Amino acid sequence: MDKDLSDLQIQYTKGVGPQRSRLLNRLGIRTVRDALYYLPHRYEDRSNLRKISNLQYNNVETIAGRVVAAEVVRLPKRKMTIFELIVNDGSGFIRGKWFNQPFMQKNFKVGQQVVLCGTVKINSYHGGIEMDNPEHEIISDDDSFIHTNRVVPVYRVTSGLSVRQIRSIMFNILNTCIQDVHDPMPVEILKRNNLPILSESLSQVHFPDAGVDLGLFNRGVSNFHKRLSFDELFLFELGLAIMKRGTALDKGIAFHPESTLLKRLIRTLPFRLTMAQERVFSDILKDMKLPHPMNRLMQGDVGCGKTIVALMAMTVAAENGYQSALMAPTEILAEQHYINIHRMIEDMGLKICLLTGSTKERPLREIASGEIDIIVGTHALIQEGVTFKNLGLVIIDEQHKFGVMQRALLRKKALNPDVLVMTATPIPRTLSLTLYGDLDYSVIDELPPERRPVETMLFNAQQKDKIYRLIREEVHKGRQVYVVYPLIEESEKVDLRSAIQGKNAFEKVFPEFSVGLIHGRMKPQGREELMTSFKNGVIDILVSTTVIEVGVDVPNATLMLIIHAERFGLSQLHQLRGRVGRGAHKSYCILLAYEPYGDDARKRLDIMIRSNDGFRIAEEDLDIRGPGEFFGTRQSGLPDLRIANIVRDAHLLNMARGEAFSLIDTDPDVRNFPLLRKSLETFWKGRVELFKTG
Ligand code: ADP
Ligand code: MG
Repeated sequence: MDKDLSDLQIQYTKGVGPQRSRLLNRLGIRTVRDALYYLPHRYEDRSNLRKISNLQYNNVETIAGRVVAAEVVRLPKRKMTIFELIVNDGSGFIRGKWFNQPFMQKNFKVGQQVVLCGTVKINSYHGGIEMDNPEHEIISDDDSFIHTNRVVPVYRVTSGLSVRQIRSIMFNILNTCIQDVHDPMPVEILKRNNLPILSESLSQVHFPDAGVDLGLFNRGVSNFHKRLSFDELFLFELGLAIMKRGTALDKGIAFHPESTLLKRLIRTLPFRLTMAQERVFSDILKDMKLPHPMNRLMQGDVGCGKTIVALMAMTVAAENGYQSALMAPTEILAEQHYINIHRMIEDMGLKICLLTGSTKERPLREIASGEIDIIVGTHALIQEGVTFKNLGLVIIDEQHKFGVMQRALLRKKALNPDVLVMTATPIPRTLSLTLYGDLDYSVIDELPPERRPVETMLFNAQQKDKIYRLIREEVHKGRQVYVVYPLIEESEKVDLRSAIQGKNAFEKVFPEFSVGLIHGRMKPQGREELMTSFKNGVIDILVSTTVIEVGVDVPNATLMLIIHAERFGLSQLHQLRGRVGRGAHKSYCILLAYEPYGDDARKRLDIMIRSNDGFRIAEEDLDIRGPGEFFGTRQSGLPDLRIANIVRDAHLLNMARGEAFSLIDTDPDVRNFPLLRKSLETFWKGRVELFKTG
């Protein structure tokens, strides 16, 4: 789009001015361009309004007519007021009712033309028809052509600004500015994908022609909507394609893949690698051999054995004389990785250290001198003051909590090291293409053979005795138990208190067992000691806040009790459950849910009982929460998609990806399409340096 429109402040548009412009700002509209991309959230067909006399009961209907009366009715006994509006369209009367909003009265005058939209009901008392809290709009004669006798857009509003006002503003903008909209998209791409031109798409999504399929418009999938979604996805994928090409061309380390250390490591493993682990590792090795930086995502459900694959790669790096860094999202996970890896490589002469925000002894000198081969840590790894001698391999666990930006920072700590990202979040394939689109992708789609699915059960608060019995049975068999208390965002202190009380309660119920408590506020050393004694079987029952969510690996733990399971998200429940079922013994997950809980919670618990498959669960989770929230809390560092929806528009995403990557193949700096290049820079602004040269 022409740059002019993003420079044109909305304030100077006809009918706006300083006050309304402040209100529009609240909706994210600052410039004329913003306004054009502020799409209606639904449409109403007012080209053929039904007569009041023909309305269908219980249907949502729209009518237009004149105000006959506007009165507040008071019902002092019920402490209630009702504002009633009576409207006539020549065929009959209808009553609009608003409860306890007497101030509504001042909006209306007898004789005004209004539109009402709502569910049609019959008044059981006097038999007239009415709508409760209908959406309403006052129409004045001079601009009625914008608001009636056509398909009209309905926008989300903010207080002080009505739908009708926004609609008028949009109408003006389209009338005066649409000829300044220049289409940045290469014509070939539009043709190949059957997409309409930009100016037409923008005017149609705001004011559709008569007779269009409103169902498509309301779902945001008309051809014109598709065009706009495609644009966004295309710019998104172009950026990823450029980043990917950039790193692919960069000079990187060509590791020598033959490694005696690696062979030794594999020999000492108490198990055989799965086919999937072998395959993924050979992908990694192939990348490591190339003289360009690796950028690979390793995805796999909890417990599939990603850590060992990562360690194998680190061994290769070490034998080549390079350091590796493993970065985890939480201190406890970093500590766990440290303990596990330390144990596995102890005899191999490799040196490893832990570096988190709270490690007291920081072997910075040894890291800088290259004495230490493997550095495990958290964000602290990318802080100032940590310098490596020759960082050759970076492994990032649980990527969704980092993101593109941090990855870039870490890469700066060294000269283009190989980067391997591990994630246990089973993201549906199409989505991982988007989120990690600049990465190559390998999936470990197989669990170690002797794993048996975890049996999941739902109990309520009245069934505690049964739960205690199950716990007692497991511990008597020599197994161990996790008990998890939920994280309630508002107060870490309260969480802690409930976990402490929980621990005391369990000690009373099971005086013969040893009960431990672990939480996020403990000193790392205490935490480490506690985890070690749990691992060694000294502790039978480990009570915790959600700190154990990721990464903890104790194969002898076979029962997980999740308290207040109704409060946990689906993916989180699945991650937690992944802490058991890691050894050869049959494992159980007990969901203790407190009634009453809502439909979504019921759905989540239900899916947990039915399925052990992380990919399936992720898909259902996405379905329940929608993509915004599913990814919302994650700092992906990527630009927002405001129009496209990666679930709804999955096929568009694939089209856009194909087009973007082939364009970058032939025109890496997008020189042939200056307008497109400009849009691309705007879209990615401030996030990633896309072009290395002017
Ligand atoms: P992830 O990080 O993918 O959740 P881990 O790497 O922590 O999984 O592995 C889970 C457990 O499975 C660990 O105890 C690990 O030693 C074990 N494991 C890994 N690979 C295999 C395998 N091929 N066969 C049997 N056990 C394995
Ligand atoms: Mg792991």
